Amino acid sequence: MRIDVLTVFPAMLDGFIRESMLKRAVALGKVSLHTVDLRDFTDDVHRTTDDRPYGGGPGMVMKPEPIVAAVEAIRTAHSRVILMSPQGQVFGQGMARALAEESHLIFICGHYEGIDERVRGLVSAEELSIGDYVLTNGVLPAAVVVDAVVRLLPGVLGGEGATEEESFSEGLLEYPQYTRPVEYRGLRVPEVLRSGNHAAVAAWRREQAEARTRERRNDLLQ
Ligand code: SAM
Repeated sequence: MRIDVLTVFPAMLDGFIRESMLKRAVALGKVSLHTVDLRDFTDDVHRTTDDRPYGGGPGMVMKPEPIVAAVEAIRTAHSRVILMSPQGQVFGQGMARALAEESHLIFICGHYEGIDERVRGLVSAEELSIGDYVLTNGVLPAAVVVDAVVRLLPGVLGGEGATEEESFSEGLLEYPQYTRPVEYRGLRVPEVLRSGNHAAVAAWRREQAEARTRERRNDLLQ
């Protein structure tokens, strides 16, 4: 998979790319991740990417030309273009799974008051939100989506995580997890998990996942 993140703050992604799961995914060749500085697609001496809003009001709006030029320079027939926006469809695990099937994702990160309205149609972008709150710019939202997608690519997590049993993968929250020591501050690991009886462990986990989901996120069961 190839991922391009279009932003005026490319350095914001540096730490994210250099650490942990994403670093490993890149090293394994599962994903190639590129940050694209929208200022490289301006044609004035000040490298301007924003301007005042028509109709007045506070803040600045991102100009359409650098964004459209950047998308047109990197997109192919197989690209899926995603505009990060608090007004978009709310991102979830189902969408993460769908995006993990793609070969090229292009994320457009807004800033200031947002992006000139014409961009979405001109580059055929779908709008994606990470939740009902407003962040300062789209880099963190794009990073959230990239993380959720890349960890689903086959071979990225290796033995570390079974994404099939995680929260939301089967419409349930995951069962409780324990590790050593067996007893900590008077709290013992449930005996069934140390029984070696795989069927009993599976049944306990399923039961716990259902009870936990009912208690915390009954909406998922509906
Ligand atoms: N004025 C816009 C509005 O009221 O809908 C909000 C603009 S926000 C300050 C600037 C940028 O941050 C957006 O263009 C988007 O790229 C990103 N952003 C902020 N919150 C987001 C969210 N919940 N999900 C996805 N992107 C978000």
